[in-house]
Amino acid sequence: MRLPRIAYPLAWLMLVPVVLRASGETDRCANYREIAAQLRASGFGSMNAYALLDELTRRCGPRLSGSANADTAVAVTQAMMERLHLDRVWRERITVPRWVRGSVEKAVVLGSNNRPPTSLSVCALGGSIATPHGGITARVIEVHSFKELSVLGEAAIGKIVFFNRPMDPTLMDTFEAYGGAVEQRYSGALQGARVGAVAVLVRSMTLALDDVPHTGSMGYADTVKKIPAAALSTKGANLLSKMLKENPGLKVRLTLSAQTLPDVPSANVLGEIRGTEKPEEVIVVGGHLDSWDKGTGAHDDGSGCMQAIEVLSLFRKLGLRPKRTVRAVMFMNEENGMRGGKAYAIDPARGSENHIALIESDRGGFAPRGFTTDADSTVFERVRQWAPCFEALKAASFARGGSGADISPLASKGIPGFGLDVETQRYFDYHHSANDTIDKVNPRELELGAIVLALLCYVLAQEGV
Ligand SMILES: [Zn+2]
Repeated sequence: MRLPRIAYPLAWLMLVPVVLRASGETDRCANYREIAAQLRASGFGSMNAYALLDELTRRCGPRLSGSANADTAVAVTQAMMERLHLDRVWRERITVPRWVRGSVEKAVVLGSNNRPPTSLSVCALGGSIATPHGGITARVIEVHSFKELSVLGEAAIGKIVFFNRPMDPTLMDTFEAYGGAVEQRYSGALQGARVGAVAVLVRSMTLALDDVPHTGSMGYADTVKKIPAAALSTKGANLLSKMLKENPGLKVRLTLSAQTLPDVPSANVLGEIRGTEKPEEVIVVGGHLDSWDKGTGAHDDGSGCMQAIEVLSLFRKLGLRPKRTVRAVMFMNEENGMRGGKAYAIDPARGSENHIALIESDRGGFAPRGFTTDADSTVFERVRQWAPCFEALKAASFARGGSGADISPLASKGIPGFGLDVETQRYFDYHHSANDTIDKVNPRELELGAIVLALLCYVLAQEGV
C-alpha cells in the first residue's frame, strides 16, 4: 500500500530501529538513551531508593547475621518487594553464624610516672573471643607488617601486638589502599598468637583521622591459640604510637566481652520480574542485607540492597518488560561468613536456571562511575559496546576488576560478574563503623546508582551477554 506522502518521514523513522551516526557507525544505544532518560526522570522524580534506605535503617538498625534485627530486615525487604507486585517474591533458608559483641570493650593505657590512665577508643573485631573478665594487661609492641612481627622473636611473647600500618593515602583507589592493609585486621590475631602474643590491637581500616574504631571480620585457625583482637581508632593508634615512643614499657589493659553462639536460621530474600521471551535466563542484581553492628549499615550494604529493589521498582513504574528475568537478591551474611552467597550458588533451585549475568552494588551508595567486571575478555568486549548508553548518566566507565563478594561463588563458575563502580574517596570514612548511618548517604547519588543498575539490567535483559 502506498503511504500518503505526509507520513513518509514518520514511517521511515519507525522502520529504522537504529539511527546512523554522522560517522556512518551504527548507534546501538539509540533505543537505550530514551530508556535512560525515562529511568532518570522517574528515579530523580521519586528518590525512592533513599526512602527505602530510610525505612530499612530506621526499622532494622544494625543487621549483624543471626541477630533479631537481621530477621526483621528479612521481613522488611520481603514486604518492600511484595508491595511492587512482582512476579515472584520469596526467601531461601540458610543458617548463619552468630557472634555477639557484648557490652564491654575497653582499652586503657595504665598510668605511670604520675600520669593518669588514658582510654583508647576500641571495638572488638568481628569473631574475636573475649578477654578474661578482668581484662588482659600487658606491655605493647608496635609493628607495621607480618615480616616485622616474624623477626621479633621472644620480644613478642606475652605482649599485646599493635599493628599500626595505615592504609596508603597516596593511592587513588581507596579499595586498593584497604586491600594493602586489611591483612592486619583479618590475620593479625593468628600471626600474633604464632609468636606468643596475648592479644592484638589493630589500627582501624580507614583514611579518616578520628576517634571512631572500625570493626570487620577476623579469622582464627584451629591449630593456633585464639587471642582477643580489637580495632583501635586512628587517633587512638597515633596516640598509642606516640606514647610508646616516650615510654616503651607502658602497659595496656584490654577488656572485651564478645562471644560466639551456635548458628541460627536466616534467609536470602529474592524478588523478580520474569522475562517475556527467555524467562529461564536470569540476571541477578543484589547486595548484602547483613551489616556490621556499630552503625546501621547504610552504605554497607543497605545502599546496594535498596538499589536492587529500586531497579525492580523503576521497571514497574515505567512498565518495562524485560525479555530475560531480572532478579533482585538480598544476600545474608556477607560480612562474617558469606553463607548467603555460597548457599545461593548451590541451592537446588539453581539447577534449572541459567544465569547470564550477576551484578552487585557493595561499594557504598556514592555517585556511580560505571562498572567493573571479572568477565572473560570476550564478554567484557561485548558488554563494553554498551558503555556509550551510560554516558548521559556519567557512568560509562567499563573496566576490568572485581564484581562482588556475594556473587563471587557463582561468578567463579564462569558467569560474568559486574560490580557497580562508584566514587570511593569517602567510603572507608564510614565502613564498618558507627559512622555508617543514613545521614552519610546522598539521596541523588544513591538514586543515580539505582538508575545506572536498572539500565544495565535492562540492556542485558534485552540484548543478552
Ligand atoms: Zn559490604
